Amino acid sequence: MTNSDDGVGLRTCCSASLFHSLSSSATIQQGTGGLLRISSSAKVCTLLPCDNSNDTLLISELRAGLESAILKLPVMRDSYRAAFKDLLKSSTLPQNVKVAISGSYPSRETAQRILESVVFFMRLYGTQLDLSGLDSVTIADDYHENLAKIDRGFQAQSPTCDAFGTDYARAVPVARDGVVKTYIVLKSELAWALDDPDHEMYSRAMHLLAHESAHAHDNEVQRRTLPDIGSPTGKGSKDEYPFSTARTCWMEYIASRLSAQWGIRTYCGELEPHLCEMLSSAKEKAEESIHGYRFHGNQKLAEGEIRNAFGKILVRSAYLVGHAHGLGKTVAEMAPQFSKLINEKAWFSPIFERYESSLREMHSTYGSWTGVEVFSPIVGTCEALLGVGGLQYIRQSNGDYAIKLGLSL
Ligand SMILES: [Zn+2]
Repeated sequence: MTNSDDGVGLRTCCSASLFHSLSSSATIQQGTGGLLRISSSAKVCTLLPCDNSNDTLLISELRAGLESAILKLPVMRDSYRAAFKDLLKSSTLPQNVKVAISGSYPSRETAQRILESVVFFMRLYGTQLDLSGLDSVTIADDYHENLAKIDRGFQAQSPTCDAFGTDYARAVPVARDGVVKTYIVLKSELAWALDDPDHEMYSRAMHLLAHESAHAHDNEVQRRTLPDIGSPTGKGSKDEYPFSTARTCWMEYIASRLSAQWGIRTYCGELEPHLCEMLSSAKEKAEESIHGYRFHGNQKLAEGEIRNAFGKILVRSAYLVGHAHGLGKTVAEMAPQFSKLINEKAWFSPIFERYESSLREMHSTYGSWTGVEVFSPIVGTCEALLGVGGLQYIRQSNGDYAIKLGLSL
């Protein structure tokens, strides 16, 4: 089959051996509600990426579900229906994105429907975000295995966990023909939730998928405006820690800001206790690290501990600040306890104030940046914060950093 002009154009492929591992050893049980269920150890339905198969399944075969259901809603007036169709047509979701779903599903139809729901939401997000740099979307039961085997297209470490232990989805930069693209991997649970409006995780799943889609948007903007750091090799040696932290802060800020409109109401309330705990204990932890360093002399260990205590405050604050800004709110409005604690910490409040205004400033010129200097204010904030913790990065005349440990409290 070829990709027709279907207005969606996303294409997935179905391996010739669809349902291939439903062998005689697989256990088939009659589940509740008369649904045939397969034991979770059996790979029941596997739709594989296109690369190794000629037996293709068009997304156009999937799109009849959720989109049509919405269009048929009795409350949908003709004018709304037309506007909704036009809106989806404007989506930036590319026609050649590879989509795959693997895992245990009651039937092939169920797997297709779930895939269709995810694609529908991504089309919707693509009406607000630039998803033109999306390469692939994979939904998998064995999420971590799929993450580990992504062909990154360059030498890269395993992708790190995104946000506060809710590891259900990640947007991973990959290089394709020398161009940075984005590969999104979703845990099956997330995709199941998106397929069921009554699912307890439905709203959270929408938010998480929007957040990862926003990362794809940002990867594309950075690729266009900052070709040097948008290169696949990137940066990340320890000497560049303030820079890489500043960049991570920006990426989480913008992903949180852009996805806030699809966010869950409890989001800031959930982040707040973790941030308060980190901020309350950071200085004490850093002092312990410095004292420990005087005893054991292991600079690397102390450096890592201080980075962990202080650098993470900035990165994790970025989610909350980005979300608040995305809703046109202040941190004080969205997270009053955290805001109060910031004001109580005289060593932190000017740093945080500078951090928040730097992020706002970066956002005001987002899309027209001309060089990596745009990150300099956040790099400075990061260095100032680490300095409070007793870790100083001192630039040498040859451009390298020297590290100095010690508190001047
Ligand atoms: Zn993120």
